[in-house]
Amino acid sequence: CSASSSTIEPPKDKLLGGLFSPAFDEASCLSRYQSALFRKSSNHTPSSYLVEKLRSYEVLHKKCGPNTELYNKTIEQLKSNHSMGPMECNYVVWIPSDGLGNRIISITSAFLYALLNNKVLLLYLPEDMGDLFCEPFPETTWVLPSDFPIRNIKWVYSFEKDPNRYGDLLKRKVLRNDMNSRNISGPLPAYLYLHLIHTSDDFDKMFYCKEGQLLLQKFPWLLLRSNQYFAPALFLIPEFEKELSLLFPERTTVFHHLGRYLFHPSNTVWGYITRYYEAYLADAKERLGMQIRTFGQVDLDSHSSYIINCALTGKLLPNIDLKDPVLPTISGVKPKAVLVTSLSSGYFERLRDMYYEHATTTGEVIGVYQPSHEEQQHTEKLSHNMKAFAEIYLLSLSDALITSRFSTFGYVAQGLGGLRPWILVRPNNKNVCLHSVTMEPCFHFPPSHDCNSRRKVAIGSVASYLRHCEDFPNGIKLF
Ligand code: GDP
Repeated sequence: CSASSSTIEPPKDKLLGGLFSPAFDEASCLSRYQSALFRKSSNHTPSSYLVEKLRSYEVLHKKCGPNTELYNKTIEQLKSNHSMGPMECNYVVWIPSDGLGNRIISITSAFLYALLNNKVLLLYLPEDMGDLFCEPFPETTWVLPSDFPIRNIKWVYSFEKDPNRYGDLLKRKVLRNDMNSRNISGPLPAYLYLHLIHTSDDFDKMFYCKEGQLLLQKFPWLLLRSNQYFAPALFLIPEFEKELSLLFPERTTVFHHLGRYLFHPSNTVWGYITRYYEAYLADAKERLGMQIRTFGQVDLDSHSSYIINCALTGKLLPNIDLKDPVLPTISGVKPKAVLVTSLSSGYFERLRDMYYEHATTTGEVIGVYQPSHEEQQHTEKLSHNMKAFAEIYLLSLSDALITSRFSTFGYVAQGLGGLRPWILVRPNNKNVCLHSVTMEPCFHFPPSHDCNSRRKVAIGSVASYLRHCEDFPNGIKLF
């Protein structure tokens, strides 16, 4: 493809330093091995410990995956309505909540949780996610079979009232975190439901404490519903500390590596990505991604000029000359491309018009493109989510990125791309944006209590490797 033929580069490492297994049939998922042709090589190599862990996870998943003998055995136990402790294969079933960005960051966190606990991750995938991703693990599937015996799983919102909600069972003292084989008086529930979305309460958040984790190990089935990037909080659990430091000697690469490992666009989505890239972006000398997501009422004119000011002061785009309309452009030089993604088209139009109507002071030519403007979020539609994923992925192929505060859509793009974005957040209400210190996503609603003292703490300050997020100070991120 022209992405690789325009300059002479060494042959690309299509397995990304061993992150990907070579065991897949290439045609079933073209993006897995072709993505290296479109991406700049990552500056971050996965540790050999992570690579080994992924290969052994793949073996475990194949052994325990849907419709294997061991899976069927654990399903029988689930149907019996109570649990007698861990089995040979133990599962985390992920249940979606909110938009695609939220889903991708929470799947990644659930996968890390599964890796740390030798559990198998299965996804409850509604139809709106049916053809987005390839299978990440060879010769098996991560999709929860449709005959899974917990029937009401698709009414995700009813799970807040689930009788097996871990936090509720603690609150009602049906379960105690210090339960062990000696002081359990009857059988345990067949599964636990972990309510880890933004509305989880302090009882649900006992999940992030050592005591909670010890209890959870006794359950072969954990149903986990989350819209959060809760991976940073796993670093606070002493049992996982050593393992996490071996897996990620470079802490701020957790999402970068796991996201690239897990999320390969399906062939349909890969078609969207590669067609768009070749048509509009491949020949550019540089690519700037601009992810514009607004929450609530925002004035288009003032927000547009704020975004443009961010690009100009960050030297991501050249200024325009308001005096001389005919400054010569440098002929033969490739244009610089700006990829705008947004639900609306107003921001794109303003930027495109600016560079159409005026010359740049550097003589550069700027092409401005936006693949879609869906106007409204429609997470319940597969075709809408395909565009969302294609656009997240296209943003991740940029050389630099401007993202919107509090948006998980942007987090996924920056993490996959290995980019520290310029975030559209006004520090102290100043008219500037902030260059993020890392490419890691933010965990928006972390626990707020210390596990031992049960006192309220500023969780972003309890460990040297955590920071409050630049774009959402109540949140935390790995540092
Ligand atoms: P967040 O709400 O910003 O954290 O991101 P999510 O991805 O979780 O939810 C927003 C959803 O709105 C996306 O998944 C898309 O469905 C839609 N959406 C938001 N911004 C865009 C965009 O720039 N392009 C497209 N195609 N869809 C978008």
